[in-house]
Amino acid sequence: MGRDGLFRVGESVPPLIKPFLEHLGVWQAFLRDGHCQSFRTVSAWGSPELISNEFFLSAHNTGWRLDRNRFDAMLLEEAKQKGTTILNAKINSACHDSGQWRIDCGESGVYTARCVVDATGHSALVSRLAGIKPVNYDRLVASTVYFEDKANPNLTGADAALIGSFQQGWWYTAATPGNRRVVALMTDADVAHRLRANRLEEWMACLAETTHIKAVLHNSQPLGPPQLWPASSRLLQGKGPQSLIAVGDAYSRFDPLSSQGIIKALRSAIFGSYALADWMLRSDSSGFSRYEALMQSEFASYRNTLRNFYREEMRWPDSLFWQRRHEQS
Ligand SMILES: Cc1cc2nc3c(=O)[nH]c(=O)nc-3n(C[C@H](O)[C@H](O)[C@H](O)COP(=O)(O)OP(=O)(O)OC[C@H]3O[C@@H](n4cnc5c(N)ncnc54)[C@H](O)[C@@H]3O)c2cc1C
Repeated sequence: MGRDGLFRVGESVPPLIKPFLEHLGVWQAFLRDGHCQSFRTVSAWGSPELISNEFFLSAHNTGWRLDRNRFDAMLLEEAKQKGTTILNAKINSACHDSGQWRIDCGESGVYTARCVVDATGHSALVSRLAGIKPVNYDRLVASTVYFEDKANPNLTGADAALIGSFQQGWWYTAATPGNRRVVALMTDADVAHRLRANRLEEWMACLAETTHIKAVLHNSQPLGPPQLWPASSRLLQGKGPQSLIAVGDAYSRFDPLSSQGIIKALRSAIFGSYALADWMLRSDSSGFSRYEALMQSEFASYRNTLRNFYREEMRWPDSLFWQRRHEQS
């Protein structure tokens, strides 16, 4: 469970996660946590045939399917060991006045600070309170259901993240630690509404039309109703106080197709911390504009790659979902 008591979506991370975790000094702790190793991504995209993209061509050839709650708990514990004070508190409001932040956490207290890192994920709460608004580039949502994992290990895609496109969007599934399997139907919010993708019966009817995703589920039963998650590409735009840095999804959100969300969150936090340290320790504020430039160019390059990827699927020219992706091209 996350801080809000919600299940977190199952996440696959590519091999490139390793140097980030090593840099943070948490690689051994990560290995001890028993996440599932992954050696490929398998997809039916642009054609009904499954194609395997092997990680052995990558410098760090193991990807991972995470237990996300365990992963987050490990990072918190490691931060605590290095002297960070962890508060189990919810930020209600934050304001910046006369060079100081005032953070109101309700019953957990009111705190003052010289600077704030907004890592509140898709709510981007502190940035919004400071008047900076995220801009959405599409309307993608995920409707996810967990299953007990009964996949035959010899079936192609059983041990990997498996992706398959369909007329109204695409599907994603991955087995996660604890013998569970997450299955996500990805489409635009209005299409999800039309498909009634928030209701299990209709969701299962859509699933029944798939080939590879259905096969890997091997008649296992859903463990609960669908949960909807916003998944649009999004970027903060506008300028707030210099002493506010947004990182992770609070700054930019990537389409889950990229499998880059967690790596991007770690990378932005590392670079954001350099900018803050320069400013706090040496009164050098030039790191803030370097950070902004890096984040903007990272987002532009991601959008470019994403456009090219969606252009590889041309089988449904009459579908609104695919027309929108191709118009953006
Ligand atoms: C369906 C789906 C599938 C995905 N699959 C992948 C994948 O396979 N691989 C991948 O890398 N990424 C994936 N992502 C993206 C990934 O989940 C995010 O990019 C990543 O979680 C961002 O991390 P974060 O720390 O920035 O935000 P979050 O993980 O959202 O964390 C934000 C934290 O802030 C806390 N918070 C929020 N508001 C407050 C408040 N007011 N006070 C105090 N705390 C607060 C929350 O409780 C939470 O703990 C997927 C996303 C979706 C929607």
